Amino acid sequence: IINKIKETERLQIVSQLAASVSHEVRNPLTVTKGFLKLLQDNTIANEKKFDYLKLALSELNRAEAIINDYLSIARPKEKDVAIGNITNDTLNSTNILAPYAVMNQVELMTEIDEACKELTAKYDQQELLQCLINIGKNAIEAMPNGGVLKFIVRSGHENNIVINISDTGVGMTPEEISKLYTPYYTTKETGTGLGLIVVSDMIQAMQGTLKINSKKGEGTTFSISIPLHIK
Ligand code: ADP
Ligand code: MG
Repeated sequence: IINKIKETERLQIVSQLAASVSHEVRNPLTVTKGFLKLLQDNTIANEKKFDYLKLALSELNRAEAIINDYLSIARPKEKDVAIGNITNDTLNSTNILAPYAVMNQVELMTEIDEACKELTAKYDQQELLQCLINIGKNAIEAMPNGGVLKFIVRSGHENNIVINISDTGVGMTPEEISKLYTPYYTTKETGTGLGLIVVSDMIQAMQGTLKINSKKGEGTTFSISIPLHIK
């Protein structure tokens, strides 16, 4: 099942999101502030205080997750576009993901096509890393009992370079795939539902494409294709 997001749909999602994300971060902060105020009251039982602390922490975690997944759009910055080596940056992202993979009993593998090692493209390095990390993190989270996460770099058709990120996780039905770009759509207890929207926005900025191929119960492959920089 292949899914490609339409440009108009994407723009609509991103503008909707920009309006609501600051609100979404402010909420947990307000709640946390409330709990901290309650803690100033010395007459409260210790047990109750512990509950307040737990709730305040989980709210802060949520604010942090939203900021992490959404950083680049929540704080619009000048894009820092330069000529970069896709293979090197893919390996950089796997280094960042490695501890998270180990923590989740996931074997992390890379397969770099020899012909790709010197290939370059024009992109914002931080943004490509964020895309690969967001997709890789999802892949790891889709394998609650461990599995294999594989990054493959290969040449695509028409002067593109392709990064495939595949997992042996829970997979998705076509219906689930169709919800991926709905803001705040998440199947996770502590998810933000923002990670893939950020990804699709950044890939678009690179004039690239993002495809998803998934089978329920078997696994998922995200496929990023980026135009090559031809010298
Ligand atoms: P979050 O990770 O916070 O839930 P995302 O936008 O990153 O938000 O992902 C949205 C949803 O897409 C996830 O909650 C999950 O249900 C689904 N998803 C994303 N990647 C995968 C994957 N590799 N395998 C299965 N489901 C996935
Ligand atoms: Mg995610």
